[in-house]
Amino acid sequence: MEAKQQYQWLYRHRHLLRIFAAILLIVFALGVYLLVYMTGGIKFVYSHSMYVPILLSGFLFGMTGGVLFGLFAGFVLGPFMPIDVVTGEMQLTANWLYRTGFFVLIGFLSGAASQMTRSYVERLKWASEHDLVTQLPNRNALIGRLSKIDEDKPSSSLLLLVVIFLENEMELRSSFGEAVVEEVVRQIPQRVVSAVQIESPVYRINSAQVSVLLEIDEQEQDALLDRLVDAFRTPFSINGIPIHIDVRMGYAICSRDMDSPEDCLRKAEEALAVAVERVQDKVAYKPVFRSVKQDNLAIIGSLKDALGDGQLSMHYQPKVDIRSGEVHGVEALMRWSHPELGNIPPGTFIPRAEQSTLISLVTDFALEQSMRQLAQWKKCGIDIAVAINISSRNLLQPGFADLILRLLQEYELDGASIELEVTEGALMMDMAHTIHELATLSNAKIIISVDDFGTGYSSLQYLHLLPISIIKIDQCFVRDLPAEKGAVNIVEAAVTLAHKMGMKVIAEGVEHRAAYDFLQSAGCDMAQGYLLSKPLAAEEFERWYQACGGRYAHSGQA
Ligand code: C2E
Ligand code: CA
Ligand code: CA
Repeated sequence: MEAKQQYQWLYRHRHLLRIFAAILLIVFALGVYLLVYMTGGIKFVYSHSMYVPILLSGFLFGMTGGVLFGLFAGFVLGPFMPIDVVTGEMQLTANWLYRTGFFVLIGFLSGAASQMTRSYVERLKWASEHDLVTQLPNRNALIGRLSKIDEDKPSSSLLLLVVIFLENEMELRSSFGEAVVEEVVRQIPQRVVSAVQIESPVYRINSAQVSVLLEIDEQEQDALLDRLVDAFRTPFSINGIPIHIDVRMGYAICSRDMDSPEDCLRKAEEALAVAVERVQDKVAYKPVFRSVKQDNLAIIGSLKDALGDGQLSMHYQPKVDIRSGEVHGVEALMRWSHPELGNIPPGTFIPRAEQSTLISLVTDFALEQSMRQLAQWKKCGIDIAVAINISSRNLLQPGFADLILRLLQEYELDGASIELEVTEGALMMDMAHTIHELATLSNAKIIISVDDFGTGYSSLQYLHLLPISIIKIDQCFVRDLPAEKGAVNIVEAAVTLAHKMGMKVIAEGVEHRAAYDFLQSAGCDMAQGYLLSKPLAAEEFERWYQACGGRYAHSGQA
């Protein structure tokens, strides 16, 4: 039998074991009686053996057990036990009563010590299975509950494990403080139980995740999950303040005999990760998630080698001055040609590289390649600017600006021919540091542009503080121009605003003539998109540039 099974056996039979122990202790006491009697009576030392069962009884049965056993032991060595068996002289009543009192005291003390130790151990156990702030059971408790599933009697119902992520927990913490977030979490079980209509504990498995294990019939599942999602749509009310919680849910069906507790929880959490990534309310676990995750890890694992093996290269997409058609510059976009997996799009590997220090190697590569290419183009008369995409981590990287200045010197380039595309989110990460870093770069005349403008949450006031020269309107506003009225308004407002702030505007994702014409009439300065050209390898770009003579002309233009 394994240790865990042994423990479970003992726990199941604990009442029988206690009766058995009580009988043994009584037998022990009677044994001491015989020992004392046989060795000549109470005047000899053997009566002290009685302390052993008294201590044991206090230990096993607590204060009450210790006291009762003390009384019993005192009686056993009391009125019927002579002082001297040979002479038959009996004890004085005061003598055995005094001893009985002493036995009772020892029984009481050992019982008290045992109860205190036990309650301390129980507190420790409680603390290891609960969140101390909200008092909700924690991850350990959930694992414990899941490990008892196989003990439950076989049932035809499903075991549904749901993990709920409070997506805006960090934001709430910084806006309203710890106490408010904890109070929200404390109120969650009530919401969950009234939504699912099953009395089931809600576990807090980390600061922003709670989980609930439900035993349900298969046909109930969809309706129940819908109710669970709806339960969070109404704001929580904390001290009269309505607090809205954004939640994502991942869930998995736990198999009673196949899954280990950890596997079951992992499945629900993997489903949750997908729900967060896809911005969906709820996602069910599918085995394919695991292989995708492993593929992603494998991709990132091989990215470092790919950098050294020549699998990565830069492509260049033209940016054109809308009024004159002049090719103002190019955006450098990374391409990965994997020997087995084929082309891996940057949208797949860049966001993952951004979660590690690998992004600095990726950016170093993009900077180095693009600047070397630009130096070559300058030599053969292609006088354009190159824009390089920069990640948020890069701006926080110590010495990042110095690296760019060094590359400028190495390739003898003017700062004005380099543009850095930074997203709004990246600019807002650490304003003090960003301002300093961008100031160094703009002092060297390097142009900073805000990429994907309109999709982030940047404050205009902060943007005004930064040395930004260009805003790049995100493709989602450009794609449906001029048919989409909302996009028309946004683009017109962005152009006016940027011009008022002394910035230029470029529209990316220009795919149609109609969009180009609209942007021209709206006063947008530059355009980039498939209408002009897809991103091209360096030699292809050279041919494209030579063919148009450095000036893009669409019909209707001179
Ligand atoms: P981004 O910076 O917003 O780049 C524009 C993306 O839109 C590029 O996708 C480009 O090929 C695509 N695009 C350009 N014109 C059109 C168009 O008319 N229609 C449509 N549908 N798409 C168009 P790509 O090359 O797949 O790059 C995706 C993202 O990956 C980039 O978005 C950028 O965030 C990132 N990325 C690419 N290269 C680098 C790099 O060297 N460093 C960093 N940090 N990120 C990079
Ligand atoms: Ca970009
Ligand atoms: Ca963009």
